[in-house]
Amino acid sequence: MIILDQTTKRYQGGHEALRSVSLQVEKGEMVFLTGHSGAGKSTLLKLITRIEVPTSGQIRVNGHLLNRMPKRQVPFYRRDIGMVFQNHQLLMDRTVFDNVALPLRVSGAHPDDMQRRVRAALDKVGLLKREKYYPQMLSGGEQQRVGIARAVVNRPTILLADEPTGNLDPLLSREVMNLFAEFNRVGTTVMIASHDLGLIARMPYRVLTLREGSLVRSSAIEGLRNG
Ligand code: ADP
Ligand code: ADP
Repeated sequence: MIILDQTTKRYQGGHEALRSVSLQVEKGEMVFLTGHSGAGKSTLLKLITRIEVPTSGQIRVNGHLLNRMPKRQVPFYRRDIGMVFQNHQLLMDRTVFDNVALPLRVSGAHPDDMQRRVRAALDKVGLLKREKYYPQMLSGGEQQRVGIARAVVNRPTILLADEPTGNLDPLLSREVMNLFAEFNRVGTTVMIASHDLGLIARMPYRVLTLREGSLVRSSAIEGLRNG
């Protein structure tokens, strides 16, 4: 569960990226986070991954009060959060297998365990046959799916994505969104920052809308259709 309670983030230089935002995302829920460029979407995701800390107000994730979390605890906390980026951030000189294995190497997984889990993650995104390929041998959509496999290989309870379909055409975008929905169906909490409103409106998930750092709307899909 993700809870923000009157959370404000002011960056150095005084810019207020988030203004007293309060929201709750239930365990096992899938939500979209939308808003214009600069509205504060990435900042909100960075607070949840504890890359940034709030200037005031609280943020609690899976029972951890992040404001108070000691630095040495942060890497352990992050193992439970998978992050997908717009530009997938794959290492181009490593194979698909090695890219997906990276989080497991970092957390010191046993080699047998690593093989099993990497293949399970690749299977889930439909890329089992590509494990020996290098990223540049794959299409944009496949590269993004490798990014998703890497994000879920540690079996995180929370999956976050920052404009994951930003570089994809509509068909591939829908495929990638459906993949997130599948992970959500088996219990993962999913939060996706996106300004692809057409795609979001066609999916049955709650939409959180930011405007200049304030949460202006938290709607069910019914609200979207009627409004
Ligand atoms: P979004 O993801 O919705 O485009 P961001 O969270 O990236 O919005 O940015 C929100 C606001 O905070 C923007 O005005 C942006 O310029 C500012 N901002 C983001 N990161 C920093 C930073 N590290 N230092 C100062 N200002 C920042
Ligand atoms: P620093 O070492 O400067 O504190 P971080 O460890 O916070 O940097 O983040 C390093 C990089 O890893 C950042 O570019 C960030 O976007 C990314 N990152 C942070 N949290 C996660 C996560 N939960 N999953 C995947 N990548 C992450």
